[in-house]
Amino acid sequence: MRDIAHYLSGKTFVGGGNRYGDVFDPNTGKVQARVRLGGATEVAAAVDAAKAVQPEWAATNPQRRARVMFEFKRLLEAHMDDLAHMLSAEHGKVIADAKGDIQRGLEVIEFACGAPHLLKGDYTSNAGSGIDVYSMRVPLGVVAGITPFNFPAMIPMWMFGPAIAAGNAFILKPSERDPSLPVRLAELMTEAGLPDGVLNVVHGDKEAVDAILDHPDIKAVSFVGSSDIAHYVYQRGVAAGKRVQAMGGAKNHGIILPDADLDQTVADIMGAAFGSAGERCMALPVVVPVGEKTAEALRAKFVTAIAGLRVGASTDKDAHYGPVVTAAHKAKIENYIELGVQEGAELVVDGRGFRMQGLEDGFFVGPTLFDHVKPGMKTYQEEIFGPVLQMVRAESFEQALELPSKHQYGNGVAIFTRNGEAAREFAARVEVGMVGINVPIPVPLAYHTFGGWKRSAFGDVNQHGPEGFRFFTRIKTVTQRWPAGGPVSDQSFVIPTMK
Ligand code: NAD
Repeated sequence: MRDIAHYLSGKTFVGGGNRYGDVFDPNTGKVQARVRLGGATEVAAAVDAAKAVQPEWAATNPQRRARVMFEFKRLLEAHMDDLAHMLSAEHGKVIADAKGDIQRGLEVIEFACGAPHLLKGDYTSNAGSGIDVYSMRVPLGVVAGITPFNFPAMIPMWMFGPAIAAGNAFILKPSERDPSLPVRLAELMTEAGLPDGVLNVVHGDKEAVDAILDHPDIKAVSFVGSSDIAHYVYQRGVAAGKRVQAMGGAKNHGIILPDADLDQTVADIMGAAFGSAGERCMALPVVVPVGEKTAEALRAKFVTAIAGLRVGASTDKDAHYGPVVTAAHKAKIENYIELGVQEGAELVVDGRGFRMQGLEDGFFVGPTLFDHVKPGMKTYQEEIFGPVLQMVRAESFEQALELPSKHQYGNGVAIFTRNGEAAREFAARVEVGMVGINVPIPVPLAYHTFGGWKRSAFGDVNQHGPEGFRFFTRIKTVTQRWPAGGPVSDQSFVIPTMK
């Protein structure tokens, strides 16, 4: 059985513990490897390694740090196929989608190549007589990232890209469900010229997370995962005096106005709802048609489109989506489908009991469509994170606007319409962090920032873009005066002002 170990100071690190987690092949349902689950000892070893090299890394000029990022980007491109297969083999997403996962992370690395420019401070010459003021962005020291299973390439890179380019040393605690790819990324960073110890990977579960949150020498924690855990990480991290950003779950709505191009809208929403088996925080699992006529037409088109979906092994080039990540997650999704029926929603297409020929034990869930879902239902209020599309009918624009605005999550939302005025008003008023206008998955590009509202994100600073650099640095402001000699000025006991 393959053993997946930690990565410390540029080498495989076994650590001292004796706990393991199973890593499945979601296509076959079989255990394919076991991952070591670290705890306080492994986290402490990683912090020690990081602390030892961070000052020198921070003192390396930013252009040289950026060159490591350029080389890492080149290596990602050169190894794209192998990386995508490795990712897909543990996650279950199809290869083309795995490449998208890596590419999205690579784009954050491209942005991080701009570190020399992004880290420049401000300068005011002659702020007072003979006085200059300047500010600089300085790294925090040792920082950590805790990531979810659903984007094992992109999300680690969201975090370690800007953090390392800014001069920090980084400890990554990836998801224990698909841990191989994050280690491979760390190896490629070493190959790209990153000094040993600047990027370390400690595998684990709650024990490793708690050790990170409690370690006094970790200055900031970036987390992405489900909301209850995000909230826990935020509270415990902040209580320990750390800077924390913690992104959580989602339930993104697609509002369809009567004037939308319905064929195009359905084509767009199919990928957003069912791509990656719905295991995306920017998936679109709720559609809100406005008006009965829109709802009826949309429902008929979805039924037809779903009949044309191909579910297959993650290596099947023609499959639209593959298995979900674990048997436990499959059971959770199927339980939500059962609950939806019990709550009185109409199950139009039932994906339960889906069996792949030749892969009967794989974690496959068929596409599922519910109609007449109501806001009071638990299956509407909670995140299912599977290939389940729910239709909530609205009578008016106002009612449709209210649904995502009042939902506990506020990650993404999309509106489909030909009416610019309505779209503009929707974007201005909706209580959600990322808005798409005829764009079903409005994930901002790497040079913008990513972050939801309400229970989709705790903390004030978004991921990547300029805010990524802001999160992983702090500002030092220097006020300097070089007296030219002459008479000693009078003592003053009044706060200096610019009166
Ligand atoms: P998860 O919350 O189960 O795990 C996330 C991380 O937390 C993992 O590293 C895991 O080991 C750790 N963890 C798990 N249980 C813990 C506990 N009790 N205490 C401390 N740490 C714990 O999330 P997941 O299932 O891996 O990922 C899916 C979730 O992530 C979904 O809710 C999805 O919406 C969310 N997500 C959000 C975003 C975003 O940017 N908002 C992006 C991707 C995924």
